[in-house]
Amino acid sequence: MNYSIALIPGDGIGPEVMGPAVEILDAAGTKAGHVFTYVELEAGGLSIDRSGVPLPDGVVEKVSQCDALLLGAVGGPRWEKLPGHLRPERALLGLRKGLGVFANLRPVSLLPQLRSACPLKDEVLAAGSPGGKAGFDLLIVRELTGGLYFGERGRSADGSLAFDTETYSRTEIERVLRTGYAAAAKRRKKLCMVDKSNVLESSRLWREVAEELAKEYPLIETSYMYVDNCAMQLVRSPGQFDVIVTSNLFGDILSDEASVLTGSIGMLPSASLGSLDAEGGKSIMGMYEPVHGSAPDIAGKDIANPLAAILSAAMMLRYSFGLEKEAALIGTAVSRVLDSGLRTADIAGKSGAGETVVGTRAMADAVLEAVKSAPWTEGEYHA
Ligand code: NAD
Repeated sequence: MNYSIALIPGDGIGPEVMGPAVEILDAAGTKAGHVFTYVELEAGGLSIDRSGVPLPDGVVEKVSQCDALLLGAVGGPRWEKLPGHLRPERALLGLRKGLGVFANLRPVSLLPQLRSACPLKDEVLAAGSPGGKAGFDLLIVRELTGGLYFGERGRSADGSLAFDTETYSRTEIERVLRTGYAAAAKRRKKLCMVDKSNVLESSRLWREVAEELAKEYPLIETSYMYVDNCAMQLVRSPGQFDVIVTSNLFGDILSDEASVLTGSIGMLPSASLGSLDAEGGKSIMGMYEPVHGSAPDIAGKDIANPLAAILSAAMMLRYSFGLEKEAALIGTAVSRVLDSGLRTADIAGKSGAGETVVGTRAMADAVLEAVKSAPWTEGEYHA
């Protein structure tokens, strides 16, 4: 198959980690008989320098004509003093809104190779996890284009009073829950809806919609949890969770909390998805990016971890193109490289002896080689 991919490498380490992600995608494509074509576009700081705005007219439209968007990261100290509407990060909001990607998916799992990077004890990791194994593998689905971040806000005339409002419609809640259910169906079939329905009216609507929708998904075990309890449970027994679905504000906070349990932000991919296709499987538009920012402190030094970007590309194969096996090919290649002891500086020293610290390029080359040399016949990866 042929797929067209909009590519925004962005600022700072963005181009350093996106270059390898593209090479690895191409290697997986060659192996599996797919052709990926890239439409390179500018947004963020680079675009401010070249055209004076963070998201030039026509970029959203050009992305919409592609099958998915891969983005590095935008921003940096050079543009920090600009007024809010001209800051590079404004491009992200414009892309999310313009593309209608309302569900942000962040998988958070503990890789056995990075066990010692997790501050939790074995007994905590084992509590509630499948088979009592010391680990976790969860997916946070955060509503991305509504709620407190987009509600009405303001100040009183004298500035001494401020307010922000949380507004959600049934449609907004239902569509993100459906994305959560579609993801849960491909995982361990558990969905936990997180809210604050003992206090907030908007949360009561979330709970109402979730209870109605749960009846449509009898094969998925649906549970409900207050957000304060969830914040505690994530560090008491993260293994109990499979898919967590929640609002924009709660998801922002919980996903950052969960990410700390994994070792380094340089390992974490993300997907922002729009409506699902008629079968409820693939996203009609998806934006894929590492969770980290442009990391200006390490840009240009060949020390950035490229794995979050590479794993984001694998998420694109899975969620936008439905290429599960090709996504697994990349995931397994990353795992094998970590097994071999290679580490970028951010994840070094976390598993003790037998590690070799390498730069961005060498880590990317190792994953590339692992993809190229993986046994793959007749569309199947044979481990
Ligand atoms: P950051 O994620 O860029 O960096 C935080 C810390 O993590 C830094 O010490 C950095 O060196 C380290 N780090 C990040 N990615 C890494 C990687 N792949 N490998 C190794 N270490 C890595 O967050 P920040 O410093 O708060 O923000 C820097 C800029 O990025 C700001 O302008 C911010 O607005 C922007 N930002 C953009 C996005 C995005 O484009 N999606 C997201 C977050 C921040």
